[in-house]
Amino acid sequence: MLSRQKGAILVLSGPSGAGKSTIISAASDEIGEYYFSISTTTRAPRMGEKEGRDYFFVTKESFEEDIKAGNFLEYAEVHGNYYGTSLKPVNEALQAGKLVIFDIDVQGHRLVRAKMNDITTSAFITPPTLSELENRLRARCTDQEDVILKRLENAKDEIGAVSEYDFIIINDSVEEAAEEFVIVAKAARLKYSKETEDQFIEKWLQ
Ligand code: ADP
Ligand code: 5GP
Repeated sequence: MLSRQKGAILVLSGPSGAGKSTIISAASDEIGEYYFSISTTTRAPRMGEKEGRDYFFVTKESFEEDIKAGNFLEYAEVHGNYYGTSLKPVNEALQAGKLVIFDIDVQGHRLVRAKMNDITTSAFITPPTLSELENRLRARCTDQEDVILKRLENAKDEIGAVSEYDFIIINDSVEEAAEEFVIVAKAARLKYSKETEDQFIEKWLQ
């Protein structure tokens, strides 16, 4: 048997407003135990967002200190703010054999792939069209006009990176997108580290 000695990673990317949070919460009862990586950011909290649940909100100075100290698995500048994934809690969750879910941008996905490709699965989540993305960002009522325009511009660049992902989930109906997400999460759990595979082969040959 292949034992889950090290967990697995599922990276979700997609334009801000694509529905990543909505889909994770719609599917959360069906994907088994997982650890959602809470990112650190220098952007201001949105209405309804909670420190330590949605993000760790920090100053630019504090973020830059963490960069220097090597505390991030990956970080990137998105829409003029820093966003990063702290290394320690992710390593702990992986050691405990958990599925670790990241909601990070395309730059972050590339960095995670470069460091942990063998245990990484990824999905790009997007609304069916750019204009539907705009409708959703406006309907969410959490961002000012200039922020919405910046996010739409960024989305036009990000869509060009879809081919780098294992799966694309088109979030038209939440129910269907959540069903697809459950399948992707189950598949992600079946990805084993090179180390685990090597141990399996050694035992299998005995
Ligand atoms: P993200 O986490 O990717 O930034 P959200 O989950 O916050 O996106 O979704 C953005 C907005 O779109 C929210 O107001 C959410 O309720 C809405 N939304 C999400 N999925 C759908 C959908 N399939 N149809 C219509 N509105 C949606
Ligand atoms: P938002 O401001 O809408 O919460 O997030 C903006 C963008 O930053 C989204 O594309 C989101 O996936 C990305 N993001 C959030 N956390 C991280 C992170 O830790 N690292 C990276 N690289 N991107 C992140």
